[in-house]
Amino acid sequence: MIYIKPADKKELLELVAQPSFRKNNGQILAGGSDLLVKMEHFGLKTGMIVDVKSIKSLRGITKKDNVIRIGSLTTLSDILESKILSKNAPNLTQAAKNFAAIQMRNRSTIGGNICNASPAGDLIPPLYALEATLKLESQRGIRTVNIQQFFKGPGKTVLKPDELLSEISFSALPSSTFSRFYKLGQRESMAIAVVSLALNFNSENNRFKDVRIALGSVAPTVIRAKEAEKILEGTDISPEIVEKAAKIAAKECSPISDVRSSADYRRLMVLRLLPELLKIA
Ligand SMILES: Cc1cc2nc3c(=O)[nH]c(=O)nc-3n(C[C@H](O)[C@H](O)[C@H](O)COP(=O)(O)OP(=O)(O)OC[C@H]3O[C@@H](n4cnc5c(N)ncnc54)[C@H](O)[C@@H]3O)c2cc1C
Repeated sequence: MIYIKPADKKELLELVAQPSFRKNNGQILAGGSDLLVKMEHFGLKTGMIVDVKSIKSLRGITKKDNVIRIGSLTTLSDILESKILSKNAPNLTQAAKNFAAIQMRNRSTIGGNICNASPAGDLIPPLYALEATLKLESQRGIRTVNIQQFFKGPGKTVLKPDELLSEISFSALPSSTFSRFYKLGQRESMAIAVVSLALNFNSENNRFKDVRIALGSVAPTVIRAKEAEKILEGTDISPEIVEKAAKIAAKECSPISDVRSSADYRRLMVLRLLPELLKIA
């Protein structure tokens, strides 16, 4: 097994561009909390590990001109402690709060959570609701993709073998925005989401405005409940319209039954939980 620890991003991009990286089914190691589990328990074979964890330029949270940028190696603990995020993207902070335990939060990175591409990844629904942009870098250049276009299915993304997810960015939310996250698991903590919901919306003259609803663990990738958003947008806030939107959102899901839950239960939970999260009080 070849183990390499590049000193900086330039060296990293050189390494992953080499034919030997692809030939050895090389893997980028960030916190390792998904990768090492896959190698140990799910038969992932690799002959080359590129450990990126100590590349400082890829870690940190900044806000400039109303745009928030998060380096891909920023940990869940960094996210939880960030005042920039608790003020400008509260549902991302809430998702970090619900994430595993402190040891895991200290190791796990936002980039790893995204690149692992699990429909149950906790940070992904808030990033959908924030309409985040992902910066993908390689020696060939830089491209940006909307987070919704990044995922192709469970564990599958548009990331090329020589590409690195370097940064996640989105606009800061106004302080008046209702920004919420809820994860339903089989227990309170250390649980994989049975269903997760992330919402951002405003209320103007008692009408819904800028509604963004993202749902996790209810389809092959995290989804936006766009039809439900449409029904709510510009409509007077009332229990009836919220119930209607929840029914539509439940129909937008295509869940599977697995060890954690049946598909029917997942739909039912979307139906029950969405109205709770759309409450103004
Ligand atoms: C005990 C335990 C509890 C957990 N609890 C939760 C939980 O509550 N919620 C949750 O969502 N997840 C949970 N997870 C899953 C995991 O911790 C997260 O998905 C975590 O964010 C992964 O980050 P990492 O830095 O450890 O990724 P790694 O394991 O290092 O990497 C994951 C994958 O992404 C690739 N990768 C990583 N960074 C980059 C990058 N910058 N560019 C390109 N590719 C990259 C790697 O090559 C690998 O394929 C848990 C895992 C364990 C073992």
